[in-house]
Amino acid sequence: MNAPTLRGIGMTSQRTRSRMIERLREQGIADERVLTAMASVPRHIFVEEALASRAYDDTALPLGFQQTISQPFVVARMIELLMTSGRSLGKTLEIGAGCGYQAAVLAMLTRELFAVERIEPLLARARKNLAQLRLNHVRLKHADGNWGLTEAAPFDTIIVAAAAASVPQALLEQLAPGGRLILPLGGASRGEQTLSLFEHNAGSFAETRFDVVRFVPLLAGVE
Ligand code: SAH
Repeated sequence: MNAPTLRGIGMTSQRTRSRMIERLREQGIADERVLTAMASVPRHIFVEEALASRAYDDTALPLGFQQTISQPFVVARMIELLMTSGRSLGKTLEIGAGCGYQAAVLAMLTRELFAVERIEPLLARARKNLAQLRLNHVRLKHADGNWGLTEAAPFDTIIVAAAAASVPQALLEQLAPGGRLILPLGGASRGEQTLSLFEHNAGSFAETRFDVVRFVPLLAGVE
């Protein structure tokens, strides 16, 4: 892809992206590290060309395979909650990379990022998109994230981009002391979940609940 395409023009321009950042501020996102990362990722390259004009709207967009690219506010909100009190992300695992949008934002904030995705063609798109942005330090794997990523554990941060009825035990086990895990919790069948943050302190996990959100379900197995 050539430079103007990456930079974007018209509805995909830097100006449109700046408006998205202003909207995130109005919605309460205050961590400048998060806002800077969000401002530097061209979301339009992650969506299909026909949807590029809507890439900076604050909405989830279809990815194919019945999956969606996450809403910018929710991406910003989850990462901000992981980074409160000046905390940095450290070694991070993302479950449900989709075509790599949130992974790109996370990659701006940490040098150690692992991401897993269960649908192989989506993972291939994530790989291509991240390479285009020269984010070559992200390690992607085709796997079922319910099992975490044993070979790279423990993680300081785990972020799950799909809704689970309960926290997968393997993810809690792979959280380093002092680590944080965020995921949308609640039955996908009801269509609504709550963002839940788990903090690992001396072998126990403190849970705090935040916004009501809507995510696609965390499924089992790979395809
Ligand atoms: N992070 C993406 C969100 C994609 S939607 C973004 O930035 O837009 C959630 C993704 O989670 C889907 O691609 C879906 O295939 C994936 N997913 C669902 N269950 C999973 C599982 N058990 N392991 C890995 N990925 C999973």
